[in-house]
Amino acid sequence: DVVSETADETVDETPIETASDSVPAADSESGSSPDPVEAVFAQLKAQQARPGSREPVGNAGVPRAQVQPEPEPVKEQAAATPPEGSGSPAPGADDLATLDRRDTATDAIERQLARRLKRVLADEQNEALDRLRRSKGEPDANEVLLSQGEHQGRYLEAALSDLVEAERAGAGFFGDAPSTSAVVSDVAEQLAAELVRQLRGRLESAFVDGADEQEISDRIRACYREWKTQRIADAAAHPVLVAFNRGITHAAAPGSSHRWLVDDGGAPCPDCDDNSLAGAIPVGEEFPTGDFSPPAHPGCRCIAIPT
Ligand SMILES: [Zn+2]
Repeated sequence: DVVSETADETVDETPIETASDSVPAADSESGSSPDPVEAVFAQLKAQQARPGSREPVGNAGVPRAQVQPEPEPVKEQAAATPPEGSGSPAPGADDLATLDRRDTATDAIERQLARRLKRVLADEQNEALDRLRRSKGEPDANEVLLSQGEHQGRYLEAALSDLVEAERAGAGFFGDAPSTSAVVSDVAEQLAAELVRQLRGRLESAFVDGADEQEISDRIRACYREWKTQRIADAAAHPVLVAFNRGITHAAAPGSSHRWLVDDGGAPCPDCDDNSLAGAIPVGEEFPTGDFSPPAHPGCRCIAIPT
């Protein structure tokens, strides 16, 4: 009795074509398959052994001087008028254009990553509900839910290609991207671990003592619904910016300097203001917050500009 559970959910089915889509998902039924996390890292190694095999994206068709025709009003306004007491100077027209161009590059990848993770979550939900229906006796979380490693491996695999793409977009943002890439596998790993940490607790709590199959099913659906609507979009934004900014720093000329341009979406951030006020910092040295490049915190959309 296998019934698809996606009908009541809004899952964006926009196709996303990257190399990773050709890699089959870890088979949860197969006990003999290797550790999914290790499998993903093996795949990553193979990818990194072929530097330059991915084309830079994001700025390919966008001339540097072009001002984007559809700026996001909220962000632009926030950047143009720093909040009261903000220590960093208001950005000039060139800086605003740079932030707009950056948003154009990263927003698309953030959406793509969120879509991809939503599909993973939708599949995961269907599988869990299917196993729940087939379980005998009192439902057991360990039988119904994927193992922690399988969970993490799926998110990692889904996230990696988009974060590699974000790194390449960053590497080519201020000039030609070098053929080598900055490492972003740890960013994907952190995202996957964080998703597992937050989701799994909720899912396990659906199996409190005495809950019947219908109650558990409802709770599992509610949990995934919440994640598939808004939370996954929030979770996708930060790692994309981390990877993008690593690409920028990786591509910086040896011995060059950069300055911290504040874009914290209108929320005052004294730390980022300090970084901005520090002026030009040699690439590879820490800004006052101890960061080598933005973002300084989740929600930070600052960018380091070559000086
Ligand atoms: Zn910031």
